[in-house]
Amino acid sequence: MVTFLCGEEGLPKKEGESFSEWFDYVIREAEVYDYGRYPIKGMGVWMPYGYAIRKNIVEMIRRLLDSTGHEEILLPILIPEDLLSKEAEHIKGFLDQVYWVTHGGLEELDVKLALRPTSETSLTYMESFWLSSYKELPKKYYQIVSIFRYETKATRPMIRLREVTTFKEAHTAHDSFEDAERQVFEAVEIYSRIFDELGIPYIVSKRPDWDKFAGALYTIAFDTILPDGKVLQIGTVHHLGQSFSKALNAKIHLQNGENDYIWQTSYGLSDRVVASVIAIHGDDKGLILPFKIAPLKTVIVPIPSKDEQDNKKIFDYSRKIAEQLSECGISAKVDDRPDYTPGWKYNYWELKGVPVRIEVGLREVNSNTITVVRRDSREKINIGIEDICLNIKKIGEQLDADLQCKAKRKFNESVNRASTIDEAKKVLSEKKGIVEIPWCGRITCGKRMEEEVDARFLGSPLNISVEEVSKHKCPVCGSEAKTIARLAKTY
Ligand SMILES: [Zn+2]
Repeated sequence: MVTFLCGEEGLPKKEGESFSEWFDYVIREAEVYDYGRYPIKGMGVWMPYGYAIRKNIVEMIRRLLDSTGHEEILLPILIPEDLLSKEAEHIKGFLDQVYWVTHGGLEELDVKLALRPTSETSLTYMESFWLSSYKELPKKYYQIVSIFRYETKATRPMIRLREVTTFKEAHTAHDSFEDAERQVFEAVEIYSRIFDELGIPYIVSKRPDWDKFAGALYTIAFDTILPDGKVLQIGTVHHLGQSFSKALNAKIHLQNGENDYIWQTSYGLSDRVVASVIAIHGDDKGLILPFKIAPLKTVIVPIPSKDEQDNKKIFDYSRKIAEQLSECGISAKVDDRPDYTPGWKYNYWELKGVPVRIEVGLREVNSNTITVVRRDSREKINIGIEDICLNIKKIGEQLDADLQCKAKRKFNESVNRASTIDEAKKVLSEKKGIVEIPWCGRITCGKRMEEEVDARFLGSPLNISVEEVSKHKCPVCGSEAKTIARLAKTY
């Protein structure tokens, strides 16, 4: 067991400045992720409890992708240099981040091999063999794998890594620009569902032209806000046009008898999904895991009695409850460790974010009840054990819904409007989060905003009422606004 500090002392506050410290503390002490000790910078280790959380999230993502017609594949981790370099913009965008394998044993390789930073090139290359007709399209592939990027900025556990271990990349092929665009919006829909399921609030923006994925026509991104007020990109969707298919000669027969290159999209999620669940739902006592993805949904803490006979009753009753819950698919564990007090155990499981705690003492045994404590509100209720599965499930669902609402409310408070550059600066320094400013849509004005507000330009909303926005002026050039610019301090 990792050194465990019992109680609140030692645990930094989650909100504000100390968030980073809180995050590092919680993932280490709750035995989620060991970071900073493995002897390569930017590479962390998923520990059993963290791996189980990650696994449940990954399975949820898989279910959603499978049910929307995506097929899972597995491409090699190595990409030859000539293949990776085929799409000029793409390689330009990734060149300073690629890890290269240059030797096989003692021999120097003829062609350097990249540890995949992403798989557009290798998949498109294979699609040039696999796809031949419009009749096979649309085609949707995905894989969940490690990717490697030589990050030169300060690395952060789960957030900025040199090995991203939970890279879910989807790649789709289409017979027209329009069908690929339809797919972009389907992907936005799927990602919205994933984040909704996890209770992670988000804002969807079309990234500005100067910040799109290398090789894409355009990029749409999901951003959330972490407790320190900084924005974290948690998902991206790219319309790739035909740039990769042209570079890699992936052609199909069209319905009209002609041949054309396939149109493509790609979209990705990463370890940041797990990081956001931890960061957004946790509190000053540790993790709070949504019921639906918690590896351990209920923990039963027996309250021992001084009387041996009574004690046996309490422990037998606790085990019976755990069995009943496990039988109906609700993971449960009796914490019967003799050397710890119930109070110590409460703290321990609260740190680990187990959503539902069940307390069992003599009173519960004698009245055929259990005392249930929710991890989020710490609300305590005493309920009968008939229909226990149904009741615990209901409590779990309510907890998930409340976590989502609470997170959403906080998120909405952190998205604010401003009409001038000075106002925007003030909003970001006082309220953090995201600031929205009317924008004429010109790149020069956008870049000026980025510079003067001293924040990253996240992009613009996908749908905007032109009539509404045209009442406002672009604060840089003074002409009529055509859209909204979103700016934030980001990770
Ligand atoms: Zn302007």
